[in-house]
This record gives sequence, structure tokens and C-alpha cells, in this order.
Amino acid sequence: MARITLPDGSWVAPEALATVSRELEEMPTADVVSWALQSFGPNLVLASSLGAEDMVLLDLWHRTGQPIEVFCLDTGLLFYETYALITEVERRYQISVTRVRPSLTVAQQATTIGPNLWTQDPDQCCTMRKVLPLQAHLKQYQAWMTGIRRDQTAFRRHAPLLSWDNNHHGLVKINPLVNWSFLEVFQYLQTHEVPYNPLHDLGYPSLGCQPCTCPVSDGEDPRAGRWQGKEKTECGLHL
Ligand code: SF4
Repeated sequence: MARITLPDGSWVAPEALATVSRELEEMPTADVVSWALQSFGPNLVLASSLGAEDMVLLDLWHRTGQPIEVFCLDTGLLFYETYALITEVERRYQISVTRVRPSLTVAQQATTIGPNLWTQDPDQCCTMRKVLPLQAHLKQYQAWMTGIRRDQTAFRRHAPLLSWDNNHHGLVKINPLVNWSFLEVFQYLQTHEVPYNPLHDLGYPSLGCQPCTCPVSDGEDPRAGRWQGKEKTECGLHL
């Protein structure tokens, strides 16, 4: 199992990450992002769905002056606004967002498995279009950074800031925004004039694939618009 280098040059075993995680929770988020970059350098990648939280992390990374390594899972089913935001982000930050795509196009999936798999078996669809491409892509990195927050879902309530992600990928996972609220995320975006998906202003606090994402009403669970009418609440990336 890998050892992890800390910014001061010392090493830590993955089993000791919980202690480091608690220490990082006491630090400003910008310092956590800097710590992650100092620790992992080019072996760190940001997983971005181009959601509001991911835009905060992208902007914080940009402010470190370090080269940005970022990818999105391009299922072929994202909203038009999300694809437009990718282009805007690339222009604003002068970066390239890696599009990680499934082995099958949407049309090929329809031909080989059946049309609109997301309605019949969303777990299989997410596995094929998100989880497997993610696992393949993460093999080249030692750490990944995500924008999950504890108040997003009951499942995420106990998400650590730093952990050894052995469920799918066997690498370090860093969630610098675990303690942030949705309000804090938007305050950051507005204060720093960071571009974000206009669908957030139209009742979509959580954005995923177009067929599986609906707007929610005021006061409703922010992720209630994902896989509406189904038990499913996670695509499998953060299990
Ligand atoms: S979110 Fe929906 S369309 Fe996207 S991969 Fe999952 S089931 Fe398929």
C-alpha cells in the first residue's frame, strides 16, 4: 500500500489518515487545497461535474498558481448548459478539462443493451457510464479531490475530509468542502465572480445527467431531483 508524503516531507501510512484528516479540518479550505497540491503534485486530480462545489475547488486550485489537473465524466447525457460551462471554464482558466467517456456511446448502449437504460436500470447505466470510466481514469493518480459536502445526503453525513479510498480506486480521497453549506458555496462563487451552471438558478441545486435530473422546489432536499421516483441517491462514485 502506498505511503503518503506530507508537505513537511514526512510520511504517513494510509491507516493514519484519520488523524491528518482531523488536523486538516481545522485549516482554511484554501490551505487544504494547497496542502493537497504540495503532498501529491501532478498525482492529484480534481473530479468535476461542473457543479457549484467543483467550481469553488477549481477556483481555489487556480489561485495556488499550480497547473490544474481536472476531468469530468462525460456520459454523453449532460445538460447543454454543463457542456457550455466546460468550454467557458477552459477559456477563463486557460486549462483543458479532460472528458472521460464510457466505452459505449449512448447510441451503442441503446443498441447492445436497450434504449433509455437509465429508466430500466439506472445502477447499471451509472456503472457503465460513470463508475467504470472513473475507475479506469483514476488508476494514473495517487489522490483525487471531490466537492462532496456532508449536508448533501444522509449517506455523506460522515464523509471524512481525507481518507484512503479503497472501495473502487485504491488512492487518497480529499473532500475539502465537507463542512461547507450550500449557501457558503454560492457566497464564494459570487464573491469571487466564479462562473457556474445557470441551471442552479432555475431550481437545480444538484446537477447530473439530463434524463435523471429534475428541478426541486424551495425547501426540498437538494438532491431530490436526482433519479426522481427511484430509491437511488448516489451514482456510485462516492460509495
Ligand atoms: S445519471 Fe442517469 S443517465 Fe447518467 S449514467 Fe446514471 S443512470 Fe445513466
